[in-house]
Amino acid sequence: MTRAVAVVVAAGRGIRAGGDLPKQYRVVAGIPVIRRSLEMLLRQAEVSAVQPVIHPDDEDLFRRTAGALDVREAVWGGATRQESVRAGLEAIAALRPEIVLIHDAVRPFASPALVSRALAAVEGCDGAVPALPVTDTVKTVDAAGRVLSTLDRTMLRLVQTPQAFAYPALLDAHRRAAAAGRTDFSDDAALAEWAGMTVTVFEGDPENIKLTTPEDFARAEAALGMGEVRTGTGFDVHAFGEGDHVMLGGVRIPHTRGLSGHSDADAALHALTDAVLGALAEGDIGEHFPPRDPRWRGAPSDQFLRFAAERVRARGGAIAHLDLTIVCEAPRLAAHRQAMRERIAAIAGLTVDRVAVKATTSEKLGFTGRGEGIAALATATIRLPWGAP
Ligand code: MG
Repeated sequence: MTRAVAVVVAAGRGIRAGGDLPKQYRVVAGIPVIRRSLEMLLRQAEVSAVQPVIHPDDEDLFRRTAGALDVREAVWGGATRQESVRAGLEAIAALRPEIVLIHDAVRPFASPALVSRALAAVEGCDGAVPALPVTDTVKTVDAAGRVLSTLDRTMLRLVQTPQAFAYPALLDAHRRAAAAGRTDFSDDAALAEWAGMTVTVFEGDPENIKLTTPEDFARAEAALGMGEVRTGTGFDVHAFGEGDHVMLGGVRIPHTRGLSGHSDADAALHALTDAVLGALAEGDIGEHFPPRDPRWRGAPSDQFLRFAAERVRARGGAIAHLDLTIVCEAPRLAAHRQAMRERIAAIAGLTVDRVAVKATTSEKLGFTGRGEGIAALATATIRLPWGAP
């Protein structure tokens, strides 16, 4: 039976992906990329040990993101990917594996099935690499962008990791390449070819993408269901006072009395604003718009909800749903419900189907039952991109 050990290469700097973390430590759908890669290999029964290779500067980062995993103690990589792989190969020498799998940490979507295919494919040869056919036409061009030729794509393959090799042969090839001063092989298959090993291809997986650019991360995030879902709640009350209308949900509703208090006293928009701010964990309406500030006296409340909705967008998120319940005996609200939905949707920048407005009485009980004021309760559901680990 094959005794296979996996070496996970994670020593690159990954500046192309943007952000302030090396890309292998960035979080995609709540899980750091490297952790996802290591966990996939740890779940694989045929893989008896997992050897991470990291950058010396990333020791703390590695401990925080993957320290709890049952992997071998990380070793430091070198200046090139090739040197990092060699460090990993040397580090597992005492395990005397028959097969080694070399995997890039920035391919977190490699599947267990792909690993099994790798281990099956390497039987009877020195190395096996996952490959995809090239479906686009491939041209060679000169520095000015002029087309020189069209390649025969039936002979071309896009190669991924994990790549599987006979361990003793690959270790020997790496040592020989280092001794020969060769440090420029972009993958282990290339080094194996140079060393005269026989390498075959097996079926790769289109899902097994290498996270390289910010667009790769955005696509991966979207594919996994964008970010995290959060909810917030809001509650507000305003007392009846002088007047001939109330403002509720941004809609003017004629009534024998008005509502008194902060701004235009739209308890519904205030509750919604607090719900959105609550989902963001960014304070409350009174903190952002102090009632004592004369600027907000009699002011339309749509600006408060618009502000909160802007805060969600500023964080790269989106409001998924707003749910509002208004509690009062009078005025009767049923006829105004649709107008309130449409107004709230317009203020928050949503489609109407993402806004629910309900009205109820409190059966003549309590301050709302006695007709002393109006209460509003709201729930906001928002989506935010996943944060840092
Ligand atoms: Mg209020």
